[in-house]
Amino acid sequence: MLWRPFVSTLALACALSLAGMARADILIKNATLYDGTGAPAVKGANILVKGDLIAQISTKPISAGRAKVIDATGKFVTPGLIDSHVHIRGGQAGSVRDGARRPIVDRGMAMPTLWGYLYSGVTTIYDSGNNAEFVIPLRDDERAGKIVSPRIFAAGGVISVPGGYGAGATSLKATTWEEFRPQLEAKINREHPDMLKMTKEQQGMYAAKSVPTLSDDMIKHITDFARERGVRSTVHASAEPMAEAAVLNGVSAMAHPVQRSVLNDSFVKLLVDRKIPISTTMQGYLTIAKLQDEGGMAFLDTPLFQATMTAEEIADTKGPERDDYIKNDLPAQRKVAEKYARANIKRLFDAGVILTSGTDKAYGPYTHVELQSLNMSGISPFDLIKIGTLNGAIYLGREKDLGSIEAGKYADILVLDADPAADVKNFQAINAVIKNGQQIERAKLDLPVNRKK
Ligand SMILES: [Zn+2]
Repeated sequence: MLWRPFVSTLALACALSLAGMARADILIKNATLYDGTGAPAVKGANILVKGDLIAQISTKPISAGRAKVIDATGKFVTPGLIDSHVHIRGGQAGSVRDGARRPIVDRGMAMPTLWGYLYSGVTTIYDSGNNAEFVIPLRDDERAGKIVSPRIFAAGGVISVPGGYGAGATSLKATTWEEFRPQLEAKINREHPDMLKMTKEQQGMYAAKSVPTLSDDMIKHITDFARERGVRSTVHASAEPMAEAAVLNGVSAMAHPVQRSVLNDSFVKLLVDRKIPISTTMQGYLTIAKLQDEGGMAFLDTPLFQATMTAEEIADTKGPERDDYIKNDLPAQRKVAEKYARANIKRLFDAGVILTSGTDKAYGPYTHVELQSLNMSGISPFDLIKIGTLNGAIYLGREKDLGSIEAGKYADILVLDADPAADVKNFQAINAVIKNGQQIERAKLDLPVNRKK
């Protein structure tokens, strides 16, 4: 039985089991555990999942009762991966580059990509800007257990200024605080965004004309207003002075690292002192920079991409999307910037800045490209376990209940056939995925890999 959307009886049955009514406890036995906190591996670990939570972790036997047992002898357990920067497909049509983007609401486009995240071991995503009419109800359905999906956190529409970066049809465009305050209040009351997303980006995309940006004063107003209501905020800012101004005016996190200049020590210290997490978004250096190289798109032929993306989606990535990047000189720009971007990310890591893996893409397998790209920047596979998991929860302000394997936290768990601390590619050796205490039936998700059988 394949999971298909809009099949009413099946959807109802799945909704009931998702809500936990018929859910069995799960006992994972004899695993090598990486709990995601940065603690060393624990061998012979037993993990009991009850309902949607991790109930108990012990190297002593735990009685299974009627729990479903997963024998993890010779296997490795980590928290589910978190992608802290995505834009879910189905909320906007057209290209951001040709200015013809328009809002749509297309769940049929979204659902296979959400299943693809789960298939790839990604159990939580943060949508860093989208059509609110699309993404907020989708998030609400995920939270209510109505759809098979990774946990969705969402910004809704991006906050920019008229004519500014990201100021498309689905964005909020701030003018004066007097005018914008009621708009922001209405957005927070209506959408309950998990984290606001602002842009402070003077350079139009692809070395285009300079554009106006949110003023420092406006960012302060917005972050103060949001913080008083318990809402975090993140910002797209690629130049250090813009990023620094955003941090000084109260943003909680950064949606990208600064990649276009060598970092000043003072800025790195500011990020450490204020504990500002950064979504890494480095995958472009392993993909966009190499688009015109021999074998530069070989990542699309790897098993997880082949399993989760359709032939048409892969053809689009190899065709129109690639052509668009080339037309806009992105591969050349990324090639020049790569050395600096890699050095910057390593410096941020060494200084103790909280890095969380984020792709700025819409497909699950890119998280694995991101982890490889970070590894190539000099961060060890062991350190990438925390960057791929708990740090994403910190980014979202949800580290008390998500992101690591500790008793009392939500049970988002991967069982891997190979050691992710030995080689970051081993994160792709996925044996089992548990989200919210429920094992995902990877072989039953309606994905290309399961249709070929
Ligand atoms: Zn983005």
